[in-house]
Amino acid sequence: MNQRIVMVGGGFAGVKCARTLRKLLPKADYDIVLFNRENHMVFHPLLAEVASAAVRPEDVGAPLRQLLQGIQCRTEEVTNVDFENKQISYEAYDGQVRKSSFDQLVLCCGNTVNLSLVPGMDDHAFPLKTIGDALTLQAQIMEQLEKAEVCEEIERKQWYLTFVIVGGGFSGVEIAGEINDLVRHSTKFFQNIRKEDIKVIVVHSRDQLLPEVNESLRQFTKLKMEQSGVTVMLNAKAQAATPEGLLLADGNFLHAGTVVCTIGVTTQPLIERLKVAKKNSRLVTQPDMSLPDYPFVWALGDCAAIVNALDGTLSPTVAQFAERQGVQAAKNLAARLKGKPTKPFHFKMQGQLCAIGGRSAVAEILGVQVSGILAWFMWRSIYLMKLPSFAQKAKVGFEWGFDLLFPRTLAHLKADRSKRVGRAYYRPGDFVFKKGDPATEFFVIEKGEIEVVQHGADESLQTVAILTAGDFFGESALMKMTERHHSVRARTELTCMVLGRNVFTQVSTALAPLHEAIATASRRRQGMWHEVPEVRQLLETIPIEKMVEPLPMEPVELTACVEDVVEKMDSTGADMCCIVDSSGHLVGVITRSDLLRALEKSELANPDIDLPVTDLMTANPICMALNEPLAVAVSTMRDHDLKQIPVVESSRKRVPLGRIRIEKIVHHVLVEMMNRRKRQSVIA
Ligand SMILES: Cc1cc2nc3c(=O)[nH]c(=O)nc-3n(C[C@H](O)[C@H](O)[C@H](O)COP(=O)(O)OP(=O)(O)OC[C@H]3O[C@@H](n4cnc5c(N)ncnc54)[C@H](O)[C@@H]3O)c2cc1C
Repeated sequence: MNQRIVMVGGGFAGVKCARTLRKLLPKADYDIVLFNRENHMVFHPLLAEVASAAVRPEDVGAPLRQLLQGIQCRTEEVTNVDFENKQISYEAYDGQVRKSSFDQLVLCCGNTVNLSLVPGMDDHAFPLKTIGDALTLQAQIMEQLEKAEVCEEIERKQWYLTFVIVGGGFSGVEIAGEINDLVRHSTKFFQNIRKEDIKVIVVHSRDQLLPEVNESLRQFTKLKMEQSGVTVMLNAKAQAATPEGLLLADGNFLHAGTVVCTIGVTTQPLIERLKVAKKNSRLVTQPDMSLPDYPFVWALGDCAAIVNALDGTLSPTVAQFAERQGVQAAKNLAARLKGKPTKPFHFKMQGQLCAIGGRSAVAEILGVQVSGILAWFMWRSIYLMKLPSFAQKAKVGFEWGFDLLFPRTLAHLKADRSKRVGRAYYRPGDFVFKKGDPATEFFVIEKGEIEVVQHGADESLQTVAILTAGDFFGESALMKMTERHHSVRARTELTCMVLGRNVFTQVSTALAPLHEAIATASRRRQGMWHEVPEVRQLLETIPIEKMVEPLPMEPVELTACVEDVVEKMDSTGADMCCIVDSSGHLVGVITRSDLLRALEKSELANPDIDLPVTDLMTANPICMALNEPLAVAVSTMRDHDLKQIPVVESSRKRVPLGRIRIEKIVHHVLVEMMNRRKRQSVIA
């Protein structure tokens, strides 16, 4: 029976390895099966050119079965490896998990994007790793240009025309250069876009761009990019992305319609699942690229931590190394099958190339430094040669020739954005939408709080309701197909699930109980004060301070256990306990009902276990700030069926000062109303 070699990943490393293996191992004795998520290999160095419409997307994706003849290519995702039984599990074409055995396994599945390290980046920034990413970014750039052309408000126009690129490494510099070229060269086709309104900003956390190249090339890169209109911000760290732009660690906010994130990679889920040694989340290998305890498993490319025998350093995650590892690993694998000795990975980097926009590049090849247009021609020629198939070389060569003579296409193939289901992140104080905005989305709060604000005649803003995790908003205008009647602002850090109008309409129409629940909640929110307007008027005259009572017991720290809370509640007779973090800020609340529920679920039944308060408390509870209207407190308590809520210093500084109880408020209102009526009857 033939020996079976299974490969996972058809990228730079996988393609070189498979091709070399096929040359070294006769088809009659060895089957080679390559699993790859997509049916093509992605040529990443040209993705920036796809985003800027210089190269067509299909020309940077080489179909694997045409590249790898004599190899069985399977477009399926491998989900796990059982090293002991020499089997892989994979998600088959029909969604079922199946198994396949191997004699030799080659893991070369690269890495993946992880934008979640910076809040909001996942929701609002554009990554650049797949052809789909490049196309989405291209569509975004075109859409921003079209919107800027017709936008009459200058600030908004400039917002559409601002592009922030996070990361000043190779991909960041390349995409910044490409976007800058595309947008600036396209202004001549627009009547209302001026070059002065365009901003392309690179945000880089280090003190120089392109840390991989020589000092003089780095300086050349910065100078040249700035000359062509790119703003380079060094020592600047991205702190959060929002729908309005990018917040930096120093507190500066860059207002931008497009944020591209080129930082943040992580290991593939498959690699994460494997219980073998890892370094920086990459698989640790022997010098010959096999795994320490499994000589029949090989790891190469970005997913492997391979020491280069040339200088003892860890191989960088670049295509050049991945390809050389592919060739060397294939030779080692073939040698092992034939009982011959293997060789450690040994490679001298040939050079570095980076296009920086404006038909300019920097290059360091075999120790020689080149910059400017000559380096740019070298960059194009070398990458043209490196494209894996002849068809790709011919097509990209033709497109580049075309690009030298003709302008790039500005066609915008529009995807209906209102169909999407997404997530959004906002900082405290950010508006989710403003009064008068078109109603295009429905929101469900996942984390944090919002305040619904009304605009007074004198431009003042008044909070009329507070909503928290689990609540929804934005439904009223969507259902009535009107513009927004109120503004909604994030009260704390906020993450929402966002449903576009079409999805919302489809789901709420098909699911009758959901439609009814939304409509009822909506009516309840709006109708609350209509029945008793004088109660609202009265509540508006009462400051919250007047209703604040001391907390029934001292707040307890987050590190405490439930037993402490029970003891303290018992000794003080308190019915509510505030939980605070080390800075004294409110992070949770435990009530007597919570304790009762825990007892029912027998979470408190085992006296040997110190249950932490975090297991029981309501995290991020609703609270009111001293300066907020009592009417809002009452409607919030009614909306959430709460009898009492803590009062804190301010919505940002959540130090608990006391509590308000609905019982006391109702008593106060009743007494006041009776007094009013008595006064009115005396006057009458
Ligand atoms: C925008 C960008 C620009 C770049 N520019 C350059 C450059 O100019 N020069 C340079 O040297 N390097 C560049 N790189 C880095 C270079 O692309 C990587 O180092 C190289 O792709 C690594 O090759 P690889 O084979 O390890 O992984 P990849 O090329 O990423 O291939 C991995 C393959 O495995 C597949 N896969 C993953 N998990 C599974 C699974 N569980 N089952 C099945 N298939 C799976 C993936 O779909 C993918 O096709 C760039 C990278 C990016 C993102």
